[in-house]
Amino acid sequence: MSTMSRRNFLKVVGVGIAASASLSVVKSVSATAATADPNDYVGMLYDATKCVGCNACTNACRQWNNTNAELDPTGLYDAPLELSADTWTLIQLYQGQDENSFVKRQCMHCVDPACVSGCPVQALQKSAEGPVTYDPKRCIGCRYCMYTCPYHVPRFQWKEVIPVVTKCTLCVDRVADGKGSACAERCPTGALIWGKRGELIVEAEKRLADEPKRYVQHIYGKEDGGGTSVMYLSHVPFDKLGLPTLKDEPVPHISERTGDIFLPGIIVGGTVALAAARVIVKNGGLENES
Ligand code: SF4
Ligand code: SF4
Ligand code: SF4
Repeated sequence: MSTMSRRNFLKVVGVGIAASASLSVVKSVSATAATADPNDYVGMLYDATKCVGCNACTNACRQWNNTNAELDPTGLYDAPLELSADTWTLIQLYQGQDENSFVKRQCMHCVDPACVSGCPVQALQKSAEGPVTYDPKRCIGCRYCMYTCPYHVPRFQWKEVIPVVTKCTLCVDRVADGKGSACAERCPTGALIWGKRGELIVEAEKRLADEPKRYVQHIYGKEDGGGTSVMYLSHVPFDKLGLPTLKDEPVPHISERTGDIFLPGIIVGGTVALAAARVIVKNGGLENES
């Protein structure tokens, strides 16, 4: 086929948009694995009051996942400033007037993840064990997960010829072997611990009760945003650590009410239209029917 008529071009685009619209309509809003009890999910508890900023956890993540170092201007130190396609976790420093705190950032592995609900092709999925997994073979590169995530976690490999989305995997490849995460295994102070979500909540509640003056009396992620598998304790307000203030309602439910849930369809429609246009250009352009 060397050319395509305008009418056929419009048909291709129309079919793409119609298909994508139906994808949006039939898609379930809730992304929680149907049979799982969130307290049985694996997860991590990060206690900012115990973190000394040693970066043993971030180095363990690099080594286990074989990601590239992001060197500072001296070229001597691996010192990323933000999450990136290569940096799936990092330690940041909050400096207040009266108090400082380290904070570890990575995917929160939400109980009902907005990225999963937003993905129009189920490239992101909530596994029965708890990790939110990503399948690059399904991904169409629409990057809607980056838009929907309330924690701004997923990143895109902009420099690669065939880019994919990246983020912390909650070491799902180790979970399959009965191990905990590489980062929690390496933490020398007990600031980062691994376990079942329900057990981690019990441990967090114990710490809050045992030393009430040490902590803000809240377990971030127990309920926030519908709950997360990575939870936080802190001695400074959580918003100062860059953790968003969210209602207890799962973020996908809010998106459904506001109509955001239909946006993936629009994006897929656009993607299909672009794909059609690419085919046409490759095959010699439009033919004038009139
Ligand atoms: S933190 Fe973002 S990327 Fe991770 S599971 Fe939640 S919505 Fe998805
Ligand atoms: S859970 Fe695994 S992938 Fe996630 S930050 Fe820790 S080491 Fe990295
Ligand atoms: S290994 Fe533990 S103490 Fe060191 S930076 Fe990571 S969480 Fe903090």
